[in-house]
Amino acid sequence: MILQKIIEKVEAFAPPCIACEGDNIGLMFGKRDKEISRVLVALDVDLGVIHEAKEKGVDLIVTHHPLMFDPIRQINEDSPAGRCLLELAECGIALYSAHTNLDSAVGGLNDIFAEKLGVSNTKPIEITYTDENGVSYGIGRTGSLEKEMTLSEFAAFVCEKFDLPSTNFVGDGNAKEKTVAVCSGSGGSLISLVSADVYVTGDIKYSNARNAADAGQNLVIAGHYETEICAMKVFKDILAGCPVEVILSKANKNVFNYTEG
Ligand code: FE
Repeated sequence: MILQKIIEKVEAFAPPCIACEGDNIGLMFGKRDKEISRVLVALDVDLGVIHEAKEKGVDLIVTHHPLMFDPIRQINEDSPAGRCLLELAECGIALYSAHTNLDSAVGGLNDIFAEKLGVSNTKPIEITYTDENGVSYGIGRTGSLEKEMTLSEFAAFVCEKFDLPSTNFVGDGNAKEKTVAVCSGSGGSLISLVSADVYVTGDIKYSNARNAADAGQNLVIAGHYETEICAMKVFKDILAGCPVEVILSKANKNVFNYTEG
């Protein structure tokens, strides 16, 4: 299958127009007419993931996080992105990323996040695109729980759902939570747009958490990796039915470890 056809398949699910402005998405490295028979899907790309791809005879790596966020001026061994690009070139492996377009997509990471917590009747926190029929797409989801919980109970529920040994939360543990906003990955920039009893995101800066506390906005932190690792399964499902073998990365592990006990 030609790489361009795989791109079209992914982008039918996660159209580039619904991504956040300025995001780096799409074909990061490679030729669109490259013949692809094996694809490795991952959350991030690093040398470990590229070596895994090489060992498994992969032609294309598809990730959620783009390798380069900022423009790079030199491709050499002095930067992580440069080292990865050199390795991709040497191995003849292409790289494609669907980032905030995958977050925003119907059935994408934010919908999966909301569904996992039983949050229904959702709408985006920040709209990134409205189509000709007036349907809006965007980042984050706001909706409501079936049953009210205290913040402490809800934080414990988030831990259970994401298999976390513990979590950080901001707010009074006895506060009642019925409406919930979620944002996979780093959701600090959306705090001022959130209108819900509690906001759950992957990670956040201390200063954002401080501002949330000052504004009386309750928060629960669910982990960046934990809220986005489902991207691998989403990519696998998108490519189901394509004449390519899709492999889930085993080398792409959480960069954070938890202490025992
Ligand atoms: Fe992320």
